[in-house]
Amino acid sequence: MAAAGHDRWVLVTNHALAGAAIGALTGNPAIAFGVGVASHFGMDALPHWGPDGDRSHFMRIAVRDGLAGLGVLAAVTLMHRRPARWSMLAGALGAVIPDLDKPYYELTGRQLWPVAVNRFHAVIQRESPQRMPVELAAMVVLGGLVRRLGVVRGGRATIRSQRS
Ligand SMILES: [Zn+2]
Repeated sequence: MAAAGHDRWVLVTNHALAGAAIGALTGNPAIAFGVGVASHFGMDALPHWGPDGDRSHFMRIAVRDGLAGLGVLAAVTLMHRRPARWSMLAGALGAVIPDLDKPYYELTGRQLWPVAVNRFHAVIQRESPQRMPVELAAMVVLGGLVRRLGVVRGGRATIRSQRS
């Protein structure tokens, strides 16, 4: 049986983008973090991509996705002014934190979250190896949403002439 942490995966990049959008909408870091965590489980319950059992293929995607997710966190931080920056970052962190058990397990061989959380996290998944196009389409839509909300809500640090 696959260990918890290997067998479920909405791209963490999409979780981060959704959390950043939530942060822009709420404008409050504490609320954004909490709603971001909730959004993680909500997105996991939607149909999404999942690995087909080929572990090396999965790890290639997981590493790229992890780096892209870190890129989202960096971009949100660098491209927005306060206060939008902190609420967007808090939302994104909340949205990715439930999946930190995956890299934690890879590094330590131990589970990060309690058994009940792992069980819930596994049971809500609706995944298929055929659904990568869904993830990529969601990435485009969420990326556009974050860009738009970042401009409207918080003001980009570098882009000033956008119409809202
Ligand atoms: Zn998850």
